[in-house]
Amino acid sequence: MKHLDRLAVYCGSAPGSDMVFADAARATAAEMVSRKVDLVYGGGRLGLMGLIADSVLAEGGRVYGVIPQSLVDVEVAHAGLTELHTVTTMHERKARMTDLADAFLALPGGIGTLDELFEAWSWNALGYHCKPFCLLNVAGFWNGLISFIDHATDSGFLSQRRRSQLLVAANPGEALELLDEAAAAATQGMVW
Ligand code: AMP
Repeated sequence: MKHLDRLAVYCGSAPGSDMVFADAARATAAEMVSRKVDLVYGGGRLGLMGLIADSVLAEGGRVYGVIPQSLVDVEVAHAGLTELHTVTTMHERKARMTDLADAFLALPGGIGTLDELFEAWSWNALGYHCKPFCLLNVAGFWNGLISFIDHATDSGFLSQRRRSQLLVAANPGEALELLDEAAAAATQGMVW
């Protein structure tokens, strides 16, 4: 049984310095559509964000974008989505994306992506949701962050249980498997 219907993907509004990042965004889109998992994302047309949205649409999948009016005004919104939700603030946007999605996947990105990842994790920790989240570790992009999180754990600021919530996948297929399993566990009242 499938537990993942809509996945929020957080990723760069830039394309990154290597084609491997764009390839990973396209591969994630293909894997999602083959598993009938819809995309929830930040609604932009730039960088990896625009690429994954275009790729899901091109493969015949559904894409839900959530964007604040200020970003629509500077014309970075994607015009061809299944649904574009325009909201008033960034806070509202994050809450809407969290509501719409069953799980979260972070592809390579910058501060916006980091902010979204850590909010997914901290809101889970505080009990606002019990949805799982995963890093797609494209070409080792997240290795430095994973080392730091281990350091924070070793330093006593993160429990082992909390640390173990951060899923890490080497490819999109593995990411979707891990998230589906974790979403299933959540419905049974387990760790998530
Ligand atoms: P960054 O990783 O700093 O490039 O930020 C990307 C993340 O922040 C995405 O997952 C978006 O949800 C949000 N974001 C940042 N910049 C934009 C933009 N120009 N248009 C839409 N969303 C953006």
